[in-house]
Amino acid sequence: MPDVYLIEDDAGIRTSVARALEQRHHVVRSSGQGLTALGEIVAVPPDVVVLDLGLPDVDGAAVLRMLRGASSVPVIVATARADEREVIALLDAGADDYVIKPYSGAELEARIRAVLRRGVGGAARSPRLVVAELEIDAATRSVRLAGAPVELSRKEFDLLALLAGRAGEVVTKREILQEVWRQPYGGGDKTVDVHLSWLRRKLGERADAPRFLRTVRGVGVMLVDPSTCAES
Ligand code: CA
Repeated sequence: MPDVYLIEDDAGIRTSVARALEQRHHVVRSSGQGLTALGEIVAVPPDVVVLDLGLPDVDGAAVLRMLRGASSVPVIVATARADEREVIALLDAGADDYVIKPYSGAELEARIRAVLRRGVGGAARSPRLVVAELEIDAATRSVRLAGAPVELSRKEFDLLALLAGRAGEVVTKREILQEVWRQPYGGGDKTVDVHLSWLRRKLGERADAPRFLRTVRGVGVMLVDPSTCAES
């Protein structure tokens, strides 16, 4: 079972959530202090982090940012506030999923399984993908194009890894929103378009002169091997 690190300052919740997860055979470490937790997570990475947003020493959103600077471990945010905009902002900031407090052990367990099934945080099934001169390493979250490193943001990387993992197949924007942003909300097409255009630029191509990233109008986008896909 995956190791869980729980960051929660309420001792009652911390104890009961840890107990519920331990009953489900997880190894659980925990802390009520964001900064203590950060140190322990970086020193010995767990498989997944559950992060309470309301912490006494440092804001949970700041913990998320600091953690993302140091680690790609999957993070499930626990929030008492079911504010859609805030949740979207946290997902954009690198959270992989969220639960609304109070949540049950069973619900958290389901979220943990879903996050790990999606293979986020470098635990992807195939750690290295190669499409022509494009190399994607999920374990180190690094990308090379013709041997040269390409610097991508977290979301750009997730987007590229999703498309490359399904190379030659059209992936719809809805699927992209679900897989990369975990966003069931409508109106997110623009987010996908913007990230696609950033990704294109970093791969040195343009929408009107695509190489790897082919837009299929009204459907979605497909990553192709340009050497076997001569027409453009
Ligand atoms: Ca709290």
